[in-house]
Amino acid sequence: MNFAVLLTIVKFTGWVCTTCRESCKARFHNLETSHAKSAEEIASLSASLAGLQRDMHQLDDKLNNLFTTNTTNFQASAVEKSSYGTVDPTVISVTVHNTLQDMHRCQRNVIVSGFPEVDDVDDKITSRSFVKTI
Ligand SMILES: [Zn+2]
Repeated sequence: MNFAVLLTIVKFTGWVCTTCRESCKARFHNLETSHAKSAEEIASLSASLAGLQRDMHQLDDKLNNLFTTNTTNFQASAVEKSSYGTVDPTVISVTVHNTLQDMHRCQRNVIVSGFPEVDDVDDKITSRSFVKTI
């Protein structure tokens, strides 16, 4: 083979011997396989992403519904509260005072159990006679 002729066109054709061509073919085949795998993975990722977006929209809708329901409930309860009208602060203080007094009185209560039941006699009378004997 006349290498002198080859050398004049090598800058356009490249230097390709049989080994290099085989190696290039193998590398190209590997590239094709990798590309196909990548394309498959991208398709799978796209499907997953679409699923995630759908789920996210559903969650978003649920959250919005929850928020709307809660806001409506809150507004309804606010209206309910205002229907009671304004309460006089002295009424509140009297109620609190009475409740505390009642609780204090209950602390001093004496509970008697195991009292024998007597026919034809009211429990009030029996308990009064019991208290008198103490
Ligand atoms: Zn070569």
